[in-house]
Amino acid sequence: MGNCKFARLSLKSTFIWSLCSQYSTALTAVGRALIVRSCQLIQHRYVHSRGLGASPANPGAAPPWLPFSRVTQEDLAFFRTLLPGRTITDPDLLKSSNVDWLKTVEGNNEVLLRPKTTEEVSQILRSRNLEVCPHRGNTGLVGGSVPVFDEIILSTSLMNQVITFDNISGILTCQAGCVLKNLSNYLEERDFIIPLDLGVKGSCHIGGNVSTNAGGLRLGQFWVLADGWILNCLATLRKDNTGYDLKQLFIEGTLGVITAVSILCPRKLKAVNVVFLDEMTRCSSFQQLLETFQCCRGMLGEVLSAFEFLDASCCMSLLEKHLKLTNPITSLLQTTGSNTTRDEEKLHNFLEEVMTSSLVTDGTVATEATKIKALWSLRERVTEALTHEGYTYKYDISLSVEKIYDLVGGYGHVGDGNLHLNIPSPFNDPALLAAIEPYVYEWTSEWKGSISAEHGLGLKMRNYIYYSKPSEAIALMGSIKAMLDPKGILNPYKTLPDNIH
Ligand SMILES: Cc1cc2nc3c(=O)[nH]c(=O)nc-3n(C[C@H](O)[C@H](O)[C@H](O)COP(=O)(O)OP(=O)(O)OC[C@H]3O[C@@H](n4cnc5c(N)ncnc54)[C@H](O)[C@@H]3O)c2cc1C
Repeated sequence: MGNCKFARLSLKSTFIWSLCSQYSTALTAVGRALIVRSCQLIQHRYVHSRGLGASPANPGAAPPWLPFSRVTQEDLAFFRTLLPGRTITDPDLLKSSNVDWLKTVEGNNEVLLRPKTTEEVSQILRSRNLEVCPHRGNTGLVGGSVPVFDEIILSTSLMNQVITFDNISGILTCQAGCVLKNLSNYLEERDFIIPLDLGVKGSCHIGGNVSTNAGGLRLGQFWVLADGWILNCLATLRKDNTGYDLKQLFIEGTLGVITAVSILCPRKLKAVNVVFLDEMTRCSSFQQLLETFQCCRGMLGEVLSAFEFLDASCCMSLLEKHLKLTNPITSLLQTTGSNTTRDEEKLHNFLEEVMTSSLVTDGTVATEATKIKALWSLRERVTEALTHEGYTYKYDISLSVEKIYDLVGGYGHVGDGNLHLNIPSPFNDPALLAAIEPYVYEWTSEWKGSISAEHGLGLKMRNYIYYSKPSEAIALMGSIKAMLDPKGILNPYKTLPDNIH
């Protein structure tokens, strides 16, 4: 049993910080309950039988089916005229779009639509009044991107054009279906960077990133509301404080479909260094880990762009076992700056300091692009490695740093306070689940943490919202949903708890 954290967030709109860690010991309260069995993997699937609902004992269970209209022949004829060759009904082609990245949620959708323009999205919503599940990359981790029953999948895969890029302001405006990696390549050619970086950048798209609140620096969006109304809030100004900040509302496709986004992109800085630290503070000395990180922040300051930690005995062994990736690192940090000599000097001073004070026994600096890429792939593929372990209980919580240490009982995660806790098991075991939940949520709530730091609530977490938000706030969310989507056709069963729909 182990747990793993990796997280990134923007700090002061400039830096991306990240800390990754995996420790091999158990959670204080649940560790003893985790029994490793060599059984065949049984994937947990949400069951699509009507009337089956969540209960206090099982808040993550499939919701009861809501009586939406079914797609008729007339609807199909309309779609085929509007989207010739882009209305998909072949069950073989629909298969992968019905299952989420973790293969834990499976829908039963029979129609997938591929609009190319905002106007087409508007017509789909305005004319047919059918429930839709927007998706593209389908890399979401909370079951938000696949239908629960037979909701139409509205894929933005063909909405993949860059609209404008202003190389003075660094503002990029593009359609929502642009793949993150393609945008990154586009910008790199122009000496800019996209201000977010996920392990799944080759699959996820900017509309999905924005609607799950991944990354920062976004300026505005183009939305289509449930009744087809088009709303252009594609800001191309860095400063605009006129009225409510609506773009924060359009979460997980439940209030509108995002069709385009504008993002503020920083200049690409040429001096990139990755340092890997060997024999990093093992957490007989959690305090030492904190000290190393603090020292890192203090000495590298504005050039520190990432700090990752992987536990050799757990994270690294998974990477080696399943993906054949080997490297003797336990943690890595990255600096990004404009002056190679100055940054290298800073790094040198930092390494000298942490080695002199015995926080770290060894460290190597990598400046070569291929080596940097290889090191990053270790960090970015931990989630993938975990999928080979069988079933993984995943938690994405944020807490104050000291409390994270308490939760993992002698081993912990620091940095941005976002803990990705992964508990692999050979199969989905109700007894194990009962040992973990609701303990993790109650504990997080008790210490004023968030039960979903960055992945959202989607289908799986919708009924857990009460652990992090007061019921008044949830009622207000319900009112906003009722106002913008009175028929509840936008990504139903997601984000809000069952009693709100
Ligand atoms: C290996 C791995 C690493 C990850 N790392 C991180 C990480 O470091 N940080 C982080 O925050 N997240 C991370 N994630 C989860 C993250 O939320 C998604 O990967 C990504 O942001 C979702 O983009 P997507 O295109 O795949 O969206 P999808 O999975 O297709 O959709 C996600 C949600 O957004 C909605 N949606 C999609 N497109 C639209 C649209 N155009 N309009 C309205 N709603 C829409 C969907 O309905 C769904 O609710 C990771 C996931 C994986 C698998």
